[in-house]
Amino acid sequence: MSIQNDWHSSTVGEVVTRTVQQQIVRSAHIPGQPGALDGGMTIEALPTWYAETTFRSALEASWAATLDSLNIAWEYEPETITLPSGATYIPDFRLPDIDAWLEVKGTGVPRVEKAIEFGQTLACDCPRFRCTCEWPGGELVLIGHPPTPYSAYDDPRFEDSTNYRAMAVATRRHGGHPRWTSTRPGALWLTRCGDCDRGTWFGRGGCRACRGRLAGCHGYQSGDSGLEFRRISGPARQADDGDAA
Ligand SMILES: [Zn+2]
Ligand SMILES: [Zn+2]
Repeated sequence: MSIQNDWHSSTVGEVVTRTVQQQIVRSAHIPGQPGALDGGMTIEALPTWYAETTFRSALEASWAATLDSLNIAWEYEPETITLPSGATYIPDFRLPDIDAWLEVKGTGVPRVEKAIEFGQTLACDCPRFRCTCEWPGGELVLIGHPPTPYSAYDDPRFEDSTNYRAMAVATRRHGGHPRWTSTRPGALWLTRCGDCDRGTWFGRGGCRACRGRLAGCHGYQSGDSGLEFRRISGPARQADDGDAA
């Protein structure tokens, strides 16, 4: 009984500590300041409201919307992690169903050292081809970049088209194509699993969500024109804005 109580109280204490740490780190991360996005990318650094969450930037909110469109579950800034180097790190997204993390980096933020260190921490040490982990290579850490711009000239809908007005409208409305890299070597594709209908990144092995074999599923490359990035923009709104309307 006492063991259970100790365990319980220490767990709660841990959670409280984590939350406090997270608040400290959050308040130290000010958009527009050095370490955030540079002057040219201030629009990206504006807090943006989406899915009842205030994101630090439109790019982060857009990644959340893109994950939703792919049916990939996400948690925003779920925890503060202390890396082996001693640095404190809050990954932007955990993707719990596919055992992965996503760090969003705008063009003005080239530094991904923490995400790379985190990725190395989660990588397994199994000999190649004899990995005994639940997922090949261990948990994934992905870097989510700004999207590859859409080009109407590459869109099959406008093949041989001279309807430049329609092409201009499509260009304005299209969010571009999701672009990512991994913190580890090796190609990583994105697909929608035919078995569980969830989106999954994969390298070796099958669906990270249901372990299906992904037979017949099309694997998209980073920046592939077959996927659309969901662009979310606009200022942050409070959760109770609806009541005032
Ligand atoms: Zn392994
Ligand atoms: Zn699946």
